[in-house]
Amino acid sequence: MTQNTDLNLALFERARQCIPGGVNSPVRAFRAVGGTPRFVQRAQGAAFWDANGKRYLDYIGSWGPMILGHGHPAVVQAVQQAVLEGFSYGAPTEREIELAEEIIALRPGMEMVRLVSSGTEAAMSAIRLARGATGRSKLIKFEGCYHGHADALLVKAGSGLATFGNPTSAGVPPEVVQHTLVLEYNNVAQLEEAFALHGPELACLIIEPIAGNMNFVRASVPFMRRCRELCTQHGALLVFDEVMTGFRVALGGAQSVYAAAIPGFAPDLSVLGKVIGGGMPLAAFGGPRSVMEQLAPLGPVYQAGTLSGNPVATACGLATLREIRKPGFFDALATRTQSLIDGLQAAATAEGIGFSGDCQGGMFGFFLLPELPQNYLQVMKSDGARFNQLFHGLLDRGIYIAPALYEAGFVSSAHTEDDVAETVAAARAVFREMSSRA
Ligand SMILES: *Cc1c(COP(=O)(O)O)cnc(C)c1O
Repeated sequence: MTQNTDLNLALFERARQCIPGGVNSPVRAFRAVGGTPRFVQRAQGAAFWDANGKRYLDYIGSWGPMILGHGHPAVVQAVQQAVLEGFSYGAPTEREIELAEEIIALRPGMEMVRLVSSGTEAAMSAIRLARGATGRSKLIKFEGCYHGHADALLVKAGSGLATFGNPTSAGVPPEVVQHTLVLEYNNVAQLEEAFALHGPELACLIIEPIAGNMNFVRASVPFMRRCRELCTQHGALLVFDEVMTGFRVALGGAQSVYAAAIPGFAPDLSVLGKVIGGGMPLAAFGGPRSVMEQLAPLGPVYQAGTLSGNPVATACGLATLREIRKPGFFDALATRTQSLIDGLQAAATAEGIGFSGDCQGGMFGFFLLPELPQNYLQVMKSDGARFNQLFHGLLDRGIYIAPALYEAGFVSSAHTEDDVAETVAAARAVFREMSSRA
């Protein structure tokens, strides 16, 4: 009798009996890369341990939130204190004000913010608000950008600019996405054409300014400048989806990165999540007072949530923000992340593997392509089989990166130079195997 000693596999088999695909969010199932998902037992600092007790250096950090690494003492203490005071009240608390004030102070142009529980909810609510505030129905999104799974945003490009999108999920009626126009990222000519055709009907343009859901692709500065100009000119709201990049690529988020290149730059609405909850379910959307006051109970745009502004989640988020706004935090994080990308680039080059990488603050991406892609179509030219070889080679060596080539990676302040060196050495060993097999 053979004994099943892989406890991850045993858990996966059990999970598949009671949870669709064995997971509560699809990418965790390893469908893109094959193999058995690692069931996490516990995490500390830059690492987690799976059901077999194997340690992995964690470059996902819960897909972004864990910017301080796991179990940061100040955050743990804040959460423990909050739990003792109560889990949820369904009535307002001072901590919600403190968190709102912190967020607003870091984002020029944002005067009010509403707290919700997930990025999906925040993006969905921001779209409703944009439509309610402008009295218009249509919106622009870009291929390869993810804004959560609200119906109107689960859409891919239609057959041309005059037509609107097609649903990317069953269960989304075509009528629900008929107002969503999907354009190519970084394509200025297409953007101009879309505004020329539909300008007066557009409520908003929603964009991931540094897209982390097609690995890592920056909106070019000229493209972003045109987005801002065209929105202003046509009375549409520019909505920055910074669920991933907010408090991650810089303290001021991607907004501050573009403001450094485009004087006076700010979006109209911003959507936040991930880092602001520090690993708890917390997200937000905010903007100018005139727009935010359209929300219930002041205005006609309805939005609500039983657990919104949850006292434990806000304690976790506040404690996290107070750590990351300490002087030098982002400089150190950015240096570490850059040294990871530089190290991976050097390892790939030494083994003759085509490689390109980029990073900002504590977020990075890399491609097994000689040049950085500019849009989704180019990202999809990456060789999936080679990526999977790299993924599993790293996984075997105790390095956990996102199990899909279209996902960004994250470094935390708990990652050390030694961790980076270990990662680069592992990658070099895998690249060597890949080049000798090629
Ligand atoms: C993760 C993410 C979302 C969705 O957030 P959830 O909390 O998973 O609902 C939305 N937009 C972007 C850019 C994201 O990265």
